[in-house]
Amino acid sequence: MRKIAIYGKGGIGKSTTTSNLSAALSSMGYRVMQIGCDPKSDSTTGLNGGRDVPTVLDALRNNPEGVTLEDIVVQGAGGVLCVEAGGPTPGIGCAGRGIITAFEKLEELDAYEIYRPDIVLYDVLGDVVCGGFAMPIRGGYARDVFIVTSGEKMALFAANNIATALSNFKSRGYARLSGLILNSRNIEKEVEMVEDLAGRIGTSVVEVLSRSPVVQRAEDGNGTVVGLFPDSPMAKEYVSLAEKVLERSVDDA
Ligand code: SF4
Repeated sequence: MRKIAIYGKGGIGKSTTTSNLSAALSSMGYRVMQIGCDPKSDSTTGLNGGRDVPTVLDALRNNPEGVTLEDIVVQGAGGVLCVEAGGPTPGIGCAGRGIITAFEKLEELDAYEIYRPDIVLYDVLGDVVCGGFAMPIRGGYARDVFIVTSGEKMALFAANNIATALSNFKSRGYARLSGLILNSRNIEKEVEMVEDLAGRIGTSVVEVLSRSPVVQRAEDGNGTVVGLFPDSPMAKEYVSLAEKVLERSVDDA
């Protein structure tokens, strides 16, 4: 099983990229589970026909003792298994703690043994890499981390922070940084800026994704580019990304 975390600043296109990556991997015959680790809980909406997937934390709040896998795992387009960790009560709980609780619940219910995914993709907000949001890269949850960024200052800043968090965990044998995914915003010298950051943090750019109107069209159609427009050049870029992610990630079997 490959365990891969996709990090990035909020609003950078991380969930869109992850959902299209899931759809591409699924179209290649892999069984994929995508776990949204963002309190917004909309990571997998595009894989589920635009409908929200019930969150693990909400299920636990509604029925603390009786949550089943059927309550929290939804089979989306292409058979992708969709899970949303969910968020805390605003202003009260800790979002990071929520992620940990959701992971523990999935393990307690034997989700990985029962569904046997080939690939688990964690879609994680990377604005604040506190202990909570670093959870997927600790404790053996994810083995490989890819960071989605554009050439915008704040996105590069977040990418650098995530890379620093990873290097701090290096000695403990946690997840490794496996590459940057450039989600283009068409700003000047964007590729050079992202390649420059990649060099400074000891990695490389895995794929440059174009800025294409078909991405918005797919979102408006409540689906993914790979699912709704499989013959588009953009879908081919996501398939190419999927191939590179497979090449660069470890399969623990
Ligand atoms: S910053 Fe991190 S540790 Fe603090 S409340 Fe938010 S998620 Fe929890």
